[in-house]
Amino acid sequence: MTESSKPVDFIREIIREDLKARKYDSRVHTRFPPEPNGYLHIGHAKSICLNFGIAEEFKGFCNLRFDDTNPTKEEIEYVKSIKEDVKWLGFDWQDREFYASDYFEQMYRYAVELIKMGKAYVCDLSPDEIREYRGTLIESGKDSPYRNRPVEENLDLFERMRNGEFPNGSHTLRAKIDMASGNINMRDPVIYRILHAEHHRTGNKWCIYPMYDYAHCISDSIEGVTHSICTLEFEDHRPLYDWFLNELKLYHPQQIEFARLNLSNTVLSKRKLIQLVQEGHVSGWDDPRMPAISGLRRRGYTPEAIRNFCDRIGVAKRDSMVDMSLLEYCIREDMNKTAQRVMAVIRPLKVVIVNYPEDTFEELDAINNPENTSMGTRKVPFSRELYIERDDFREDPPKQFFRLAPDREVRLRYAYFVKCIDVVKDSSGEIIELRCTYDPETKGGDAPDGRKVKATLHWVSALHSINAEVRLYNHLFTKINPGEESGDFKTDINPKSLEILRNCKIEPGLASSKAGDRFQFERIGYFCVDHDSSEGKLIFNRTVTLRDTWAKIEKSQKEK
Ligand code: ATP
Ligand code: MG
Repeated sequence: MTESSKPVDFIREIIREDLKARKYDSRVHTRFPPEPNGYLHIGHAKSICLNFGIAEEFKGFCNLRFDDTNPTKEEIEYVKSIKEDVKWLGFDWQDREFYASDYFEQMYRYAVELIKMGKAYVCDLSPDEIREYRGTLIESGKDSPYRNRPVEENLDLFERMRNGEFPNGSHTLRAKIDMASGNINMRDPVIYRILHAEHHRTGNKWCIYPMYDYAHCISDSIEGVTHSICTLEFEDHRPLYDWFLNELKLYHPQQIEFARLNLSNTVLSKRKLIQLVQEGHVSGWDDPRMPAISGLRRRGYTPEAIRNFCDRIGVAKRDSMVDMSLLEYCIREDMNKTAQRVMAVIRPLKVVIVNYPEDTFEELDAINNPENTSMGTRKVPFSRELYIERDDFREDPPKQFFRLAPDREVRLRYAYFVKCIDVVKDSSGEIIELRCTYDPETKGGDAPDGRKVKATLHWVSALHSINAEVRLYNHLFTKINPGEESGDFKTDINPKSLEILRNCKIEPGLASSKAGDRFQFERIGYFCVDHDSSEGKLIFNRTVTLRDTWAKIEKSQKEK
């Protein structure tokens, strides 16, 4: 897919056909319906991009609707974070912020109508009994003994349910459909249950709450939604969606299902993500290892990269697993063009340039981004004492190691050729310093006599560099599909998902950087300043490494 081409998929196909047929008066109106019981994750981003994207593309509207029908699990904190995340992703619901709870009164009236039509009844079976009576995939269900209650009695009991006369679990209101249906969802599903619980918006006004299937189709209908796009697990619920709206003779949106996003080496279920947070496996929803939007944001992901990822994965009707490296590819592609390149030494080893004068330094020109010349150049200080990466030196270099070693010459980027003439060790034998000479003729990085070196290293001036903490992240789970083998996703948590380096040396220009600023540390990876940074204590999160593993996967997929 090229950048400019519009996404093509079966949902957009359906919408084009509907527009041609002037269905819904040629309107397109979608909604994104999160339940405020957790933070949004990258799977939700797929749904957000799809719903808001379609509305934009077809000049329609997209509502933000909170599906707040379960007061025991929902909180204001989640509502706030969801709004923040949708906005951050770059979408705008304007004045169309809705709540299913705004329609509780109307939903109640519709339920009364169903009762009057003989299409709903109050049932006294306990939740366990209801389950028992429901039957299985191969066995049809049994009618509830309360199924044929007279309408008057149902009306009276339902009103008393609302008035708080009964305890939790003692009664439900059920749709009267078909206990022998091949679709279990149609076996007299519960429409209302009693829950004496305070709701974050309606307070204690209600002690009966509508079930998702009932609330969702009515909310869609009230809002004039045209295409109600949801994930595949709701396919079997569609007959129920249609049943309610048909029986009540209400305006009828069309439900369309698509495959949810599954991403390798992580989990995308709020229930599981909440466990990770509550049990302290991560520091919070915004832990940079979390697939939550807030975690990705803190990690350094941009909205553009996430939207680009959603475009690339597309929309399909069959479940599949997307490799995490595609998401990483998208942020790498973005930061490659936009992030300033700087030099940072994350595992420092001191280098003394013995023939460089003491008490002086010079400023050398460095390019900010060779992929984007408009980003210009900057000065970096060079002096007698430097740091290089510990990994860039080997006292006893193996064959394929071309970086610094005793008596070997390498280039220091933007600076000079240097040659290692001595290795200083402490009493335990650990290398603590290298002594080098530099060739003043090679300023800028080239030798006038044309001699070549096999490696170019990054470095910082010891005197000028600033200290920083660097946090390196790896996959949160060691398995592609966590818990698939063991049955418990937590057994596959990666014990090495976070490595903290506290003694990193960064070029001085970064001293004033602020939370959210993004850089490429040359030869190391892409990084973003963490919001826990403070004056004098910079913390960098590694967003992604420089190595592109997606290209390899893509190639092998094409060859298949
Ligand atoms: P979870 O399984 O994480 O708890 P959910 O489906 O219960 O998710 P909702 O708040 O109900 O979470 O989801 C809001 C919308 O986002 C729904 O339309 C849902 O289908 C969609 N959505 C949730 N997870 C994914 C996913 N992994 N891929 C695509 N869409 C998703
Ligand atoms: Mg849901």
